[in-house]
Amino acid sequence: MLKGRCYCGAVRYETTGTPTQESVCHCSICRRTTGAPFVAWFSVPLSSFTLSGDTTTFQSSSAASRRFCAKCGTQLTFYSSHHPDLIDITTCSLEHPEQVPPVDHIYGASRVPWVKVDDGLPVYPDARSA
Ligand SMILES: [Zn+2]
Ligand SMILES: [Zn+2]
Repeated sequence: MLKGRCYCGAVRYETTGTPTQESVCHCSICRRTTGAPFVAWFSVPLSSFTLSGDTTTFQSSSAASRRFCAKCGTQLTFYSSHHPDLIDITTCSLEHPEQVPPVDHIYGASRVPWVKVDDGLPVYPDARSA
């Protein structure tokens, strides 16, 4: 069981799913929707995920939407109609983000030049090939 929450605690979630696609994303949409240089994510089966609290949803592209705490604005999830059985969760909204370390970097071609990646993980120019 993994548990997480927004910064203010108004929104809480949990999942019994096994994390997959643990990635640090450097895409411009993650950057713009957080104001941060990159965002760590992981995926779990949508059916394993429950959330309580008041959220707001933003359609960030034609296929994808992102949910935020309606009160404090923490970005919590990403959902894409391209993989409707999965939901992505922001790793650092977990109570214990150290439980789900990233395995790669994606959208490295969009990386801000002053972000230096030297953790030894693979850097894919866009989505991971697998
Ligand atoms: Zn909040
Ligand atoms: Zn991204």
